[in-house]
Amino acid sequence: MSTTYTYNWTNMVSKILEKTAKLLFTVEEIDNPILEKHRMDTCKTCTYYDAENDKCTVCGCFMSIKTRLLTNRNPKRVRIEHTHCPMGLWEDKELANYYRQQDGLELLT
Ligand code: SF4
Repeated sequence: MSTTYTYNWTNMVSKILEKTAKLLFTVEEIDNPILEKHRMDTCKTCTYYDAENDKCTVCGCFMSIKTRLLTNRNPKRVRIEHTHCPMGLWEDKELANYYRQQDGLELLT
C-alpha cells in the first residue's frame, strides 16, 4: 500500500516568505507578550491594516513579525530603527515623528 502526500503549496510558500521576512527584518525581539498583543490589537482595528496579507499598507511590514520586535532593519531606508508604528498609533508618535523628520515627511500632530 502506498502513501500519498499532499502539500498545501500556498501555505508552504506563505510560511517561507514569513520566515524570510523575519530573518531579514529582525534585529532584536521585544519578548513582551502584553505589548505585542496591544500592538497587534491596534493594527487589527487600523484602516491601514491589510488583514488578508497581515501587512501594514504604510510601511509594508508583516505585522505578526513587526509587533514582536524591539529593533528592526528598514530596507527602504537602509537603516536599523527602533520598531514603531509609522503613524504613531502604538502610542509612539514621538518616535514616529523622529523618523518622519529624518525622511522629510510631514510630522504627525
Ligand atoms: S503599524 Fe500602525 S499604521 Fe500600520 S497597521 Fe499597525 S497601527 Fe496601522
